[in-house]
Order: sequence, then C-alpha cells, then structure tokens
Amino acid sequence: KRIITTELMDEDKKIESTLRPQLLDDYIGQTKAKENLKVYIEAAKQRKESLDHVLFYGPPGLGKTTLAGIIANEMSVNIKVTSGPAIEKPGEMAAILNNLQEGDVLFVDEIHRLNRQVEELLYPAMEDYAIDIVIGKGASAKSIRLDLPKFTLVGATTRAGMLTPPLRDRFGVVNRLEFYTVEELKVIICRSANVFQVKIDEEGALELARRSRGTPRLANRLLKRVRDFAQVKYNGYITKEVADFALDLLEVDKLGLDNTDREILFTMIEKFGGGPVGIETVATTIGEDTGTIEEVYEPYLVQNGLILRTPRGRVVSELAYKHFGLCQEKLV
Ligand code: ADP
Repeated sequence: KRIITTELMDEDKKIESTLRPQLLDDYIGQTKAKENLKVYIEAAKQRKESLDHVLFYGPPGLGKTTLAGIIANEMSVNIKVTSGPAIEKPGEMAAILNNLQEGDVLFVDEIHRLNRQVEELLYPAMEDYAIDIVIGKGASAKSIRLDLPKFTLVGATTRAGMLTPPLRDRFGVVNRLEFYTVEELKVIICRSANVFQVKIDEEGALELARRSRGTPRLANRLLKRVRDFAQVKYNGYITKEVADFALDLLEVDKLGLDNTDREILFTMIEKFGGGPVGIETVATTIGEDTGTIEEVYEPYLVQNGLILRTPRGRVVSELAYKHFGLCQEKLV
C-alpha cells in the first residue's frame, strides 16, 4: 500500500484512537460543518430531544468518524459503531437498533454499501423509530411493529452519489467535509505532536502539512514516521530539516506526490507531450488499471491543478511542469 493512501492502514489504528479530538471546539477546520452541528446539537439539547440523523460525506481520512464520536460526546450519549459491509442481514441491523438506548448515536461508516434489505429496514427506523419484523413463514407469517428508542443515525460515505434518494432524504443534517488547508493541518500536526510527546517547530510542522494532501489521517501517519527519524537521528526534535530528510526518504515530495503520481505525470509529459491524452492510454503505458488511476491517483492531481481535464483528454498543467522544474515550451 502507498504510504500516502488516505484509507485507514493498520499502522493508523493504534494512533488514531489517541489522536481523535473529543469535543467540537478541539476539532480543527471544517468550519461550515462545525457551525452547523453546533446549532443542531444545542437546539436538540435545549429541547431534550435526540439529534436529527446526520450524514457526512467526503474523501477518506477527513474526520467523519471523529465527528460522529464528538456528536455522541457533546450529546452525552453512547455511540455504537458499525459499517455498511459489516451488516449482512436485516436481522443483524434489527438487533443493533433494538439494543440502543434513548438518544444513542449509531454510526454507520460506508453507509452506501448497505445491502438493499438492510437499508429498507432503516427507513421506518429513521422516520418513525420503529421496525417491522416478519414472524413465521408462508401463510401464517405476520408482521409486527417493534418500537425503537429515539436514536441518531450518523452515516458516513465517500461516495455521496451512490446513496439512494430514499436514504439520503431521511437525513436531516447533511455535511460535506472539505480537504484541509496547510494552516489547519499544521495546527493538527502540532496538537498530535503534543500527544506523541515529540517536539516540533513551526517550519517542521509546516513542511509536514504541505506534504499531507489536505488529509489529517495522512498528516498524523507522516508525523509518526518522521517522529521515528527524529528520535533515532535528531534527539527527538522535528525541524524542517528532519521533516525534509525523512519525507524525501519516504519519497513523498513537496506537494505530497509519490512515485506513482510522478510516473503518471512524467509519462504524460515524456511520452505524450503533456497531453491531451486519454486516461486509458496513460494507464496502459504505465501498466496500471484505468479504474485505479481514475479513482485513486487522479483526483488529487486534478484537485491540485496538476492535471487538467479537457474534452480532448488529460493535459499536464503549467503548475506541474514548474513543480518538476521542467520547461513546458521545449517539451510541447
Ligand atoms: P474518516 O472517518 O473521514 O475517514 P477519521 O475521522 O477516521 O476520518 O479521521 C482520521 C484521523 O484524522 C483521526 O484519527 C483524527 O486523529 C484525525 N482528524 C480528523 N479530523 C480532524 C480534525 N478536524 N482535527 C484534528 N484531528 C482530526
């Protein structure tokens, strides 16, 4: 796996639980979502009601799970965590719902991956706090309604477009999470360094932030790796020099690009004059799967303006040439 993947890696599991902020005020960035939640949480508390169902969507590692935990904390309720692919049968979901207490948060990660029957069970659960269960078989089967406690469903998805309209419409609060700015990531890195009890200076934190692809999960993972270098070689103090040294060694460059990102861009520049070129052609040339390039590698490159999408194909931007210190004119 790439060190810069924003998906959860095994090495993240141990550190993430210690690094998660517990309160809304300690949660950095995402101002819009935060302000929005603050109002809903306050209003629900004043009315002594459970919070309306909340949906978070956006790329992995931006803090959806963290926010679900914060909601439970701020509402002083329990949280039960599960995920779309983990629940195979409606009965499993019914059991989870039935075990919740009044006001509890049920967090369903990757909610777009629930199967249809399980999802359909959620409709009445979300709307009326009740589920219909069928007892018996054939002609003697009958449906009984089971009342549930008033709970809050917090759903998270990286693919909002894959949610069915009936499910999406049952969320009263919908928040899109954005990539973090370098300044915001710097604050997160300093906070995490504090938890890790490792010293870091402004410039060191800034360098890490710049290479973290707008994603706190990655910022924390890179910090952990750089900390190891700092401990072994630099008396445990992370400066810009240490961050540069360690990240260069890990082959994560100044913009957070790794070898495959660079290979994509170089192939486009060297073999196709910087484009326009079709994504399938690029994929074949470097021996990667087109879907993987489109879903895993390209979004960050497009989002940062390194690749431009045109009707005639992908084009390498001037920014990318500059980043590699190449002269565009000579190559076109
Ligand atoms: P997601 O559920 O969107 O994949 P997570 O909530 O698991 O992302 O976040 C990944 C890690 O990033 C968390 O363990 C947490 O330490 C850190 N993190 C995410 N958002 C923030 C934030 N706003 N402030 C501080 N740390 C954050």
